[in-house]
Amino acid sequence: MRNLLSKIKNIFTNKESKAEPETTQQKAKGQKLKVGYIHLSGCTGDLMSFTENYDDLVDLLHAVDIVYGTTLIDRWDMPEMDIVLIEGSVCLEDEHSIKELKEAREKADLLVAFGSCASTGGFTVYAKGGQQAQPQHSSFVPLQYIVDVDMAIPGCPPSPESIKKVILAAATNDMEYLKPFMEFAKNKEACGCDLQKKIVNQSICIGCGTCAAACPTRAMTMKDGRPLFNCDRCVKCGLCYYQCTRSWWPIDQIRKDMQKEQ
Ligand code: SF4
Ligand code: SF4
Repeated sequence: MRNLLSKIKNIFTNKESKAEPETTQQKAKGQKLKVGYIHLSGCTGDLMSFTENYDDLVDLLHAVDIVYGTTLIDRWDMPEMDIVLIEGSVCLEDEHSIKELKEAREKADLLVAFGSCASTGGFTVYAKGGQQAQPQHSSFVPLQYIVDVDMAIPGCPPSPESIKKVILAAATNDMEYLKPFMEFAKNKEACGCDLQKKIVNQSICIGCGTCAAACPTRAMTMKDGRPLFNCDRCVKCGLCYYQCTRSWWPIDQIRKDMQKEQ
């Protein structure tokens, strides 16, 4: 974690005027942040949510170079990048996606799983093949199954506000704000079932209702002061688990400490 924090810090502090429009001097020094965007298997909702921030982020966009991205830039070979945002899960039957993902891991200092499909698989984990565009594609996994992910921004899609906050935290070196997103990247799964197993069944739920408030499909509701999960409505976005006030508790350590004290 410390290495990753310093890596992120270096990326941003080395680009000193990232929130300012580029000056000729900076251009000469090539200090603009090199950003890539890759779309794998998803609905493009995350990118659309990002663009909702256009007015707020226009200055920031002046300070980055979009160096790679389908539909964003006319370039086929993947260059070295400071950051790559990857939207969508990865299809195990799609060699091109797997190759592109692995190459992105090699070429980018910071690889960010952008949205729930990239972070947890999202609704794509339900796919069984036969869908119109690619009927032969039937197995989808989050990026962490194939490569190491540095940061994950879950959400189906992440709200424009949350995307803006992550970008501004990165631009202002607010590492405390970014830490949870680095923790998110360690999870391969996070959904209503995990919340049930790891929080409610472990007797550490305090009935705050944050999970139900975060759920976009009402798969998670509250009943008698406890979460009630309806798996038929769950799109595996992970928000209930990530936003649970207890999911970040170091529960194993707390239990060990309590045993020592007894
Ligand atoms: S229960 Fe709701 S918030 Fe939780 S993973 Fe399912 S859809 Fe997302
Ligand atoms: S967010 Fe966590 S602690 Fe709060 S009600 Fe849901 S499971 Fe319980």
